[in-house]
Amino acid sequence: MTGIYERKIYAVVCSPQSLGLAEKLSFQKIFQERGMVLDNIFLEIKDRLSMPEVARFYGLEINRACMACCPFHEDRNPSLKVYDDHFYCFGCGSTGDQTGFVAKLFGLRQIDAARKISEDFGLGLFDRNFAAPIKIAPNPKYEMQKWLGEARLTVNEYLTELYKWHRDYAPRNQNDEFHPLFVESLQKMDYIEYLRDILTRGTENEKRELYENGKDDIMKIRKHLDDLADVQRFEKRKAI
Ligand SMILES: [Zn+2]
Repeated sequence: MTGIYERKIYAVVCSPQSLGLAEKLSFQKIFQERGMVLDNIFLEIKDRLSMPEVARFYGLEINRACMACCPFHEDRNPSLKVYDDHFYCFGCGSTGDQTGFVAKLFGLRQIDAARKISEDFGLGLFDRNFAAPIKIAPNPKYEMQKWLGEARLTVNEYLTELYKWHRDYAPRNQNDEFHPLFVESLQKMDYIEYLRDILTRGTENEKRELYENGKDDIMKIRKHLDDLADVQRFEKRKAI
């Protein structure tokens, strides 16, 4: 907390009720002179980063239904819903926006959580010259986390299918021909389980290695799953 403007922002954000109207207006003037309005920082964060992006970045695993295990209470089944601009836990009632989430997660005050987000995502909101247009430099760490999250969903989805095929299409009689999906389950299961293990409990290095070298594989799986879904939709239509 060094610059005079930071101190003023701090005062305004942390205890706006303690300021008289004249003071508020004078702060507002200071900020406006620099292209800022009072709650610019929080709005800027909400504007730049969606709630799911922030939650994923700090380690929340969000499923397809936008639910995650709540980090604020003992939660075995996902009961925290991640909306685009806020979160709400149906288990413990925790709620908040992007900054609120980080404040809660790390036990920080709102302004410090905003600072953390700004630093982690490279938003530059607290730079001395904060009137300058803010550009997000792509944060490589964030890109990787995002990719890993998506890869995990894809791999889990494929693995669920493989298990299902292995069960449902197993030959019933000795002379049955192998169903192609059963064959696929035999061929792919080990490798996909291996990917799942890296994505869920691999070391940082293993995850990075996968991020750097496994993009094609994951993309192929994704495409394969999408194609299969198309085929299934088509066959359903045919059946009607
Ligand atoms: Zn909760």
